[in-house]
Amino acid sequence: MRKPILIANWKMNGSLESNQALLLRMLAKLRPLCKTVDLAICPSFPYLFQVRDLLGYTGLSLGAQNASLATSGAHTGEVSATMLQEMGCRFVLVGHSERRSLYHESDRDVAARFRQVLAADMTPVLCVGETLEEREQDQTMAVIERQLRAVIGETGMAGLTSSVIAYEPVWAIGTGRTATPDQVAETHRAIRQFLDRCDAEAGQNMRIIYGGSVKSDNASELFQSPEVDGGLIGGASLHADEFAQIGTALANTVAETDSPCDVLD
Ligand code: PEP
Repeated sequence: MRKPILIANWKMNGSLESNQALLLRMLAKLRPLCKTVDLAICPSFPYLFQVRDLLGYTGLSLGAQNASLATSGAHTGEVSATMLQEMGCRFVLVGHSERRSLYHESDRDVAARFRQVLAADMTPVLCVGETLEEREQDQTMAVIERQLRAVIGETGMAGLTSSVIAYEPVWAIGTGRTATPDQVAETHRAIRQFLDRCDAEAGQNMRIIYGGSVKSDNASELFQSPEVDGGLIGGASLHADEFAQIGTALANTVAETDSPCDVLD
């Protein structure tokens, strides 16, 4: 049984004051969901310390948005995986499409960062996904397989299976344009089949989450498919009520047969 996971990617947003207000409101609503859903918050690097302290023993985890491909040394502006681990991070996003496109991180760079995160005993959240042009040219799975193979080449399947995969179609990130539930389920299924071909059962055991303009009003239908193990949430994670409702929608996919979770006011 794969435990669902919801990850907030705050991107380059926040301040000491706004983070505290956002997190306190979020925690009041999200803590009851922790038994059902893994929850993680990925703030910008300078706020890791603050968010770690606020999360305390709430059951929510700390995550980071990237890690250096180097271990230490002359890499001005970079932050190593061991530093993140020391700060209490459990998860690190790797290969987010904004890193791939705006900062030209190649598949090889992403694989090297992935390896550093694993070596520091954290869970990489490997972001994969196609551009609109690639989808229109029917290249979706070719692109995703290339991105996954780069990591397998670096760490083997043993490394990849220790991660969470985030399917994030580039055309749906921060655009307000969401993939349809069918597109998401179909792509997740294809990713699982690819993983199973690489290593029997890997596809069934790994968590594959969706990211791309998930909001409270589309979360339930996006999470409905058993192929979808959760979400990576950007814009909507900057709003406590929105994010809590998305968390509740995810928890309810598990709790449907028990008693559904309500967002606490
Ligand atoms: C993201 O940053 O990974 C993301 C999915 O952003 P948004 O939810 O804003 O589309």
